Amino acid sequence: MKGTVLGIEGTAWNLSAAIVNENDVIAEVSDMYRPPTGGIHPREAAQHHAKYASYVVRGVLEEAKKNGVDASQIDAISFSQGPGLGACLRTVATAARMLAISLDVPLVGVNHCLAHVEVGRWKTPATDPVTLYVSGANSQVLAYRMGRYRVFGETLDIGLGNAFDKFARSAGLGHPGGPQIEQFARNAANYIPLPYVVKGMDLSFSGLSTAATEALKKHSMEDVCYSFQETAFAMVVEVTERALAHTGKNEVLLAGGVGANMRLREMLEIMCTERGASFYVPEKRFMGDNGAMIAYLGLLMYDSGNVIDVENSHVNPNFRPDEVDVTWLSEDLEEGRQRCI
Ligand code: AMP
Ligand code: MG
Repeated sequence: MKGTVLGIEGTAWNLSAAIVNENDVIAEVSDMYRPPTGGIHPREAAQHHAKYASYVVRGVLEEAKKNGVDASQIDAISFSQGPGLGACLRTVATAARMLAISLDVPLVGVNHCLAHVEVGRWKTPATDPVTLYVSGANSQVLAYRMGRYRVFGETLDIGLGNAFDKFARSAGLGHPGGPQIEQFARNAANYIPLPYVVKGMDLSFSGLSTAATEALKKHSMEDVCYSFQETAFAMVVEVTERALAHTGKNEVLLAGGVGANMRLREMLEIMCTERGASFYVPEKRFMGDNGAMIAYLGLLMYDSGNVIDVENSHVNPNFRPDEVDVTWLSEDLEEGRQRCI
């Protein structure tokens, strides 16, 4: 694999541009949208991205230059084509199109969920994992099979991170809620039963978040945060375990911002140890939304001829990972695929 790609992420709160080659991240510059109150406001987030797009792009080009890579060496521009907030996606896509035109290089439209998976495969020893991707807006269990990443289980309503953030907002905690919930949970004394909603291989967190808010009327913040975490994490670990059993794979990769949670890691580690599977967690900078993952999947796609015309580069707020033909996988995985059939 060869090439140098500049990628831009901006599906929600983090506007981030990175330049990567097959060996490493050459440069990355980010600017986060921080809501003054409440959760992410889509229009304000998009305005933030529009305001700082030139700052992150100029910054990443300058940083790359210091590391010996010039703008003329960039082979392609990639961007998050979806899923995400429509207004944010459109803003970032516009910046990416203009860059591709001005540098006269191809454009690559990246599925944000698959970028989380691929950066994890790049930055950990995982080769063919079942991925638990738990972020603000998304919660999915993904694994490669027969030319595509299949969604083995997913949330039927909100993502786990948003469920935490929603509860935290109603409990008067700031945004994002996940890290604070983790802190409170450490000092809990009791488990309070909360709705455990797994339907087949799918998950639902909305009722759990509301029930946790209700439980605060009778129980301490510590006990509710602990019980919320235990219940939600048991649900995602159960679905991940069943995906392992179903696919016969022996690796689990954790992705997405909620993956920062130490209790979730511990529960996945226990499940993997019991099943004889390996468990992989990338460095924190590659877990939440980041430009490097968009640039890296952009490189894989560019290298396998998976580029788009500016005319056909519309964004898709509901872009599903199983819509993407995987053009970039190695021979080994393809052999695995044959065995699966
Ligand atoms: P992402 O959308 O992947 O960037 O992840 C953002 C989400 O991760 C937010 O909803 C946060 O509340 C959540 N999050 C971040 N850190 C933690 C943590 N330590 N425990 C649980 N959730 C977390
Ligand atoms: Mg994400």
